[in-house]
Amino acid sequence: MLNQEFVAKIEALLGKDRCSFSPEDLVAYSYDANPEKRAQGEGVVSPKDKEEVAAILKLAYEYEVPVTPRGGGSGYTGGCVPVGGGIVMAMDRFNKILEIDADNYLVIVEPGVVTKDLQAAVDKIGLMYPPDPASTAFSTIGGNIAENAGGIRAVKYGVTKHYVMGLEVVLPNGDIVKTGSKCIKDVAGYNLTELFVGSEGTLGVITKAVVKVVPKPEARRTMTATFSSLEKAAEAVKAIYATGVRPATMEFLDRISVEAVEKAISFGAKPEEGALLLIEVDGAELALTPDVEKIEGACKKCGVITFRKAETYEEREALWAARRALSFALTEIATEWEDDDVSVPIARIPQMIRKLDEIAERHDIIIANFGHYGDGNIHIGMTTGKSGRPFPMVAKEEVVQAVVELEGRIAAEHGIGCVKVENLHWNIDGPTMAMMRRFKNLFDPKGLLNPGKVIPSED
Ligand SMILES: Cc1cc2nc3c(=O)[nH]c(=O)nc-3n(C[C@H](O)[C@H](O)[C@H](O)COP(=O)(O)OP(=O)(O)OC[C@H]3O[C@@H](n4cnc5c(N)ncnc54)[C@H](O)[C@@H]3O)c2cc1C
Repeated sequence: MLNQEFVAKIEALLGKDRCSFSPEDLVAYSYDANPEKRAQGEGVVSPKDKEEVAAILKLAYEYEVPVTPRGGGSGYTGGCVPVGGGIVMAMDRFNKILEIDADNYLVIVEPGVVTKDLQAAVDKIGLMYPPDPASTAFSTIGGNIAENAGGIRAVKYGVTKHYVMGLEVVLPNGDIVKTGSKCIKDVAGYNLTELFVGSEGTLGVITKAVVKVVPKPEARRTMTATFSSLEKAAEAVKAIYATGVRPATMEFLDRISVEAVEKAISFGAKPEEGALLLIEVDGAELALTPDVEKIEGACKKCGVITFRKAETYEEREALWAARRALSFALTEIATEWEDDDVSVPIARIPQMIRKLDEIAERHDIIIANFGHYGDGNIHIGMTTGKSGRPFPMVAKEEVVQAVVELEGRIAAEHGIGCVKVENLHWNIDGPTMAMMRRFKNLFDPKGLLNPGKVIPSED
């Protein structure tokens, strides 16, 4: 139960219209895109500027009320779910693009701006904001920064952290700090910006960001290549990289995924096709034809079965259709899936897939693999299909173990949140975890900012 004096003070601060304690709102703010983790807070507040954020955090500290920041609520690991109770801080009023500085290739943006709105605003003037999570239509820049979101262009352009130059952050005690700057070269003091990027709202609330943009590539070409197995596709990826061409996108679907999509949308896959690569290159128009030729040549050397190229927008959309149809296609195999998001060094993807096949066989389950081949990020879907058997959770543990054995990471782009918090020890050893804990305590000695996320419980 929230302290009534606290409630009265918050309402006086923000006005009653920007505070809600209604059961409907508590339910609406009790989940993200992960269907398993739900928890209701005791209130929802909606500040409109950094001073209000600071005042709320100070008050929450005084009354020892947990605060959970929330962006678009599209996270997959329960990051914005108020598992520790207290109040949810909805950042949707921070929705302005404050400045587009085209001469310096940067944008100053509030955290509640929806990612695709930032992309569209800079696109109009020939610029590109490269981080491109598949959730751009509903995730926010603040959520992307807090999660260090990746996406389909990470192979060539990197992830969100590569585009954050500076931040304004309100600390749990209400102090407003500024990290980084507008300068590309900047070694004035510790690199605090990177400490906040990916910290999942556990160290401070981001209220402003300086992000980098790049010139928009003149043109883009899309291709798909199918192979008999993922091993063959892996050889092709190696051969493509050896040509010196750096694709912007290199997505893959494994056999189960290809078969599921073929069943759902009949895109022309042959029975012998056990892996699909979706490849995109971008850059200067003149350079792209030779790039495509080199990629086609590399794929041919590695036994490509079908190589398709898109010349028009419609053809590009047709090639993307298989990738986009995947989530829907997998629901035909089962409605309940256990999902994971992991990464391994890219040359080890075939080994990882072999280990996953072994796990599937041992537990008599179906495992579908797809994701961002070019950066080693595998999205794993596991299910017992329509058998009605409960999912053997030990299989999930074995997946984590396999990832660790291959020197991979248990979380690639979807964060730790509260869903993976008790698994973090698989990647982070004792002394390193102790250091992380000390950082958290330094910023948030009472443990009130987004409790239950990232840092596991002491025991
Ligand atoms: C269909 C779908 C596709 C997706 N595709 C991708 C993908 O390709 N790549 C990828 O990386 N992710 C993807 N995601 C996951 C998700 O969209 C990202 O993690 C995204 O960055 C979350 O942004 P959000 O605004 O929705 O944040 P939320 O879910 O609201 O919050 C995420 C975290 O950020 C914190 N936070 C939010 N705002 C602030 C702030 N202002 N200050 C401090 N902390 C804050 C929250 O406390 C929480 O810990 C996908 C999700 C869906 C549903």
